[in-house]
Formats: sequence, C-alpha cells, structure tokens
Amino acid sequence: MRVDLHMHSTASDGVYNPAEVVDIAVTHQMDVIALTDHDTIQGIPSALDAANQTQLQVIAGVELSSQDETVDRHLLGYLLNITYAPLLDRLDVLRNGRVYRIQEMVQKLIAVGLPIEVERVLALAGTGSVGRPHLARAMLEKGYVSSIQDAFDRYIGDEGVAYVPHSQFAPTEAIRLIHEAGGVAVLAHPGHYAQHAQIIEALVADGLDGIEVYYYDHSPKLISELYWLAKHHDLVMTVGSDFHRREADGSARIGSVRFPPELDIVDSLRQRAERYR
Ligand SMILES: [Zn+2]
Ligand SMILES: [Zn+2]
Repeated sequence: MRVDLHMHSTASDGVYNPAEVVDIAVTHQMDVIALTDHDTIQGIPSALDAANQTQLQVIAGVELSSQDETVDRHLLGYLLNITYAPLLDRLDVLRNGRVYRIQEMVQKLIAVGLPIEVERVLALAGTGSVGRPHLARAMLEKGYVSSIQDAFDRYIGDEGVAYVPHSQFAPTEAIRLIHEAGGVAVLAHPGHYAQHAQIIEALVADGLDGIEVYYYDHSPKLISELYWLAKHHDLVMTVGSDFHRREADGSARIGSVRFPPELDIVDSLRQRAERYR
C-alpha cells in the first residue's frame, strides 16, 4: 500500500489546489492520502470530489497549530466529520488568529524599517490560511531578503526580531476538538521537538492517539526510537511527507517516505477512530 498522510494545498500554504494535489498523488500511484492543511478543512470537499473517479482514497485531515507555553505543537487530525459545526467554528477562530498574528508581525517589521502591506501578504495566501511563508514571500518581493529561508533566519523565525507566537490553543484542547469531531489525534513530526519522549508521554495522558513515526526528515535512528515509544504507549504510527510543493528538479516527495509493509496504518487509524464514534 502506498500511503502518505501529510500534505498541504492552497487551502493553507501549499502551492497546488486540492484537486491538483490529488492529481499528483494519482500520478505517484498512491493508494491513500490525507490532506492536512493548517487549521482548515476547506480543501477537503474538492479533494474528495477530485478523487471520486479514481482509485485514490482521500482521508479528511487537518494540521492544528497548538502551543505549549510559547512552543508550537502541530497535531494532525484524521477521519474527521467535516460537517461538525463546533469544529468549523473553532477553525474560523484559529484562522482569524492567524490574520491578527500576521498584522502584528508586519508592525514589527515596519518598526525595524521594512514596510510590508498586510493586504499583499493576505493576497499571497489567497483563500487559504495565511502563515509565515506568505509573509516571507512578500518580504522577498520587496527585496528585503534573499530567500524564504533568509526571511525566517533573520526576521520571522522563532528567534527572529519580528516573530509573534500564535494565539494560545493548548494541545489538550486540540486533541479534545479532534475527538469531538470523531477523529484521531496524531503528533506531527515529533523529531522537530526537543525532548519529544516527554512531550509524547504528556500528550498520551491528554488522549493522544498516534505519532508520525515515518516523516521525511526523520533519521533511521529517530524512527526506531519513535517506533518503540509508539509500541510502549499503544499509539498508532503514521507516515507523512509534509508535501507543499515540487522540488527544484520537478520531483514531488508525495509517497517518498517508506514504512514497514506489514504496518497497516490506515486500518489502525480506522480502528482507533471507533473510540470516538
Ligand atoms: Zn507541521
Ligand atoms: Zn505540515
């Protein structure tokens, strides 16, 4: 089975619209994908539509940005009921928070002599959830930075002068919201967090269902550590490429993250979701 449960579209900060993401997945002969845009499920209906006439199975997902003190924790929600009104309401609040955050970051950039128009940043995000990559693109257009990475390194990264954290949304709340919507809560890219073993243990107490063991930048050593943590805490293991765009050489990393073939990831997710029906 070719499975990739972590990808973004223009509904958040990806480059291709949901139907195009589905096309690319079909080209890569995927069996199952999940669309997991940041703080929105707006792309799901058109991804489902696009997959309708194909063999591809699309799982309704989301990647929620939550914060522990000031540190971001990304939680993936899978098999969500996308018509559950409280989920839609909460996602609206989170998205408005994203606009407010960009306005604050723009103010900080102006204060250091780098004027940017908020409208331009929002236009770059289109109808999707606005985020720091859009702000970085606006800075690049102005010639303030030499690349997106340069914008993060010098100004808007977590240590940058213009950095503003997301509004507070605790991981516990994110997990609860996913469960209420009938979904399964999975910690995204645990390797991005220092002390991930402690974080996972704390989140398990809050009801965490799984961890993204197989992620595109996880080393074999880290994967093996996460594998045993998942076993120990009885967690579902998931796989994700975090696809946003094609690479410079035109390749796309959809489906590029390998996992043991005996692992039935999709079935484990479905079984776990039974708990929240
Ligand atoms: Zn993430
Ligand atoms: Zn992601």
